[in-house]
Amino acid sequence: VRNTNSFDVLVIGSGLAGICAAAAALSGNARVGLISTGPGTFALGSACIDLEELHLDQPFTNPVSKDALQFFLALTAAAGCPYRDQPAKKLIPTALGTFRAASLTPVTAWAGNPDTSNKALILGIKGLNDFNSSFLAETLTYQAESAGWRAKYHALTLTVDNLPPAVTSLELARWLDQEEFRRQFISLIKPLIKDYDQVLLPGILGLNNDDQVLQAFQAELGCPVCEIPTLPPSVPGLRIYQHLLTHLQNFGAVVLSGYPATRIELEKNAAAKITIATPGRPRIVKTNAVIMAAGRGDHYRLEINPGPVIVAPVKVNEELQVVDNNRVIAGNLFAAGSIIDSGTARNGNAMAILTGYLAGNRAFRGEANNG
Ligand SMILES: Cc1cc2nc3c(=O)[nH]c(=O)nc-3n(C[C@H](O)[C@H](O)[C@H](O)COP(=O)(O)OP(=O)(O)OC[C@H]3O[C@@H](n4cnc5c(N)ncnc54)[C@H](O)[C@@H]3O)c2cc1C
Repeated sequence: VRNTNSFDVLVIGSGLAGICAAAAALSGNARVGLISTGPGTFALGSACIDLEELHLDQPFTNPVSKDALQFFLALTAAAGCPYRDQPAKKLIPTALGTFRAASLTPVTAWAGNPDTSNKALILGIKGLNDFNSSFLAETLTYQAESAGWRAKYHALTLTVDNLPPAVTSLELARWLDQEEFRRQFISLIKPLIKDYDQVLLPGILGLNNDDQVLQAFQAELGCPVCEIPTLPPSVPGLRIYQHLLTHLQNFGAVVLSGYPATRIELEKNAAAKITIATPGRPRIVKTNAVIMAAGRGDHYRLEINPGPVIVAPVKVNEELQVVDNNRVIAGNLFAAGSIIDSGTARNGNAMAILTGYLAGNRAFRGEANNG
């Protein structure tokens, strides 16, 4: 029976930073608890990651970044949601009709490079109103032409029998996890393929069995298939978030979700207990280290007793230990991800991977100086 009241490492937040921190600590066999009030911003988005601004795209020039990148690729592969990476800038189409650069994409979003297609089919689905295939075909073709790429985009809208008049990408993804619906759906597309050499669909390629769904589409249609994430909340981010969280739980992480962590008790200058504001009576959990990865969405506040109240964004030293007025609060109190006072939204995911990986390692292996 697992003890759910005492941990080696407690991570506050289960966004991408918290997940990477928990996974890094787990890989050293730590007893890990993950406290969160919800899934975090990664689960809302496209799940594509741009490493450029951190120069993680040149991993051989930066050993720490290289390790973090390899760790993330291994983690997502082991969790059943593999990524593809490419050091050079890669362009993928977006639901806004633009191309964006990404260094890492989920396998389901990999095949949309405008330079690898002469004639691509963009497939809308009748009832899925937040994906406009005609608009996308027109704007992507214009952009590809202006940039000198050879891709031309054509739009078709698929009518699937027995669908309600309005459907969401989440519903379609759930249905496509089921073999029968998937077979029927693919058989409607197959006669449309003709001389298209790439098929672009909204982000609907399964919620759980994405690998299987992608393979079935590509095998039956005989050409690369790529999903374009719809506007948030978007299936690809949610799908990868769920895969990662389940993976952590399978490896022993305890997920304490739904209630905020509000207070840390220090004992002998080290973080020793966390209060979780559960209804009725607050829950107190013991720990040997804490990683704050609560993002900055709702101006996270954490009371330190004795000590200051920390309000996001927080400052850290080079070891990722949280500092207040340039003083380390506790040698075993770290921060990771967008809660740290640096970075931009554009490189937020890359920052979350890098700092989560480092904080998870330091919190468990005690690599940091005690200030
Ligand atoms: C719509 C959208 C699109 C984006 N697109 C991109 C992109 O394309 N590329 C990119 O690099 N970045 C992008 N970003 C930014 C990126 O998503 C974030 O910077 C990054 O994922 C931050 O991760 P995080 O784990 O630090 O924080 P978050 O994802 O914010 O996670 C915070 C976690 O802390 C938990 N939490 C909060 N308060 C408490 C509390 N009191 N107690 C316990 N838990 C708490 C939350 O429930 C959540 O689990 C985007 C952001 C948004 C909103």
